Amino acid sequence: MNFIPNIFLTIALLIFSATACGSPTMPVDMPPKTYVRKSNSAVPLSPLSSQTTPTTVVVPFKKLSNTPTIVLDAGHGGDDYGTHSLGASKYHEKYLNLSTTLLIKNLLQQNGYKVIMTRTDDTFISLDERALFANQKKPTLFVSVHYNSAPSTAAEGIEIFYYQDNVDKGRTKKSKALAQAVLNKIIQRTEAKSRGVKQGNLAVLRGTEMPAILIEGGFMTNTAEMEKIKKISYQKCLALGVLQGIQDYLLAQGIDNAK
Ligand SMILES: [Zn+2]
Repeated sequence: MNFIPNIFLTIALLIFSATACGSPTMPVDMPPKTYVRKSNSAVPLSPLSSQTTPTTVVVPFKKLSNTPTIVLDAGHGGDDYGTHSLGASKYHEKYLNLSTTLLIKNLLQQNGYKVIMTRTDDTFISLDERALFANQKKPTLFVSVHYNSAPSTAAEGIEIFYYQDNVDKGRTKKSKALAQAVLNKIIQRTEAKSRGVKQGNLAVLRGTEMPAILIEGGFMTNTAEMEKIKKISYQKCLALGVLQGIQDYLLAQGIDNAK
């Protein structure tokens, strides 16, 4: 065992956790005394503010032989700005979708997954093209990332959609399970309000052929929630939740990415 680099890695992961999902009450002065590599998990666990015991830090970055492939879809782009925040300094959804999706991409790749993006810059792609692109790549999963809006500025929280595919009921079941696993972990990591898992007749979900979800990561029209959403540190929390939710789903499906 190479002890010194492991210490550095532990410290680096703690810094990442503090940056990504920290809160004033997080025990940042309580580093784990040991670290372990779990054979079936390559996910760096981030401490929650409510935890009082040292966190188990899992060493990531394992290359895989049968690598699950995830298509990530940053919603909107180009002339399609999506929704926007209220107030003087207006934030547009398409940029937040892309920055969050790139954070998810990095985390997934660091943990050994293959990632394909529908867009990596500010480009317009139609909904049908996104679904067609995903179907051609034949990935394990499809994850679309959006932020929300509502007439009521009080609306808040995170919800995840899946499509009720009455032809392919197996896909429906898997999509719903994926949505629930990802929502559970996002809520743990962000401590945002959960609005639950919902059916949605959305084009990218309807048109895709693999388990697929669409994340609405919070309301840009809620001033307090928008203050969190616009921060990269918060988006990192959300991204970590997506990674861990995907990991939970794949393990439950018997797809062990760390073999
Ligand atoms: Zn959107």
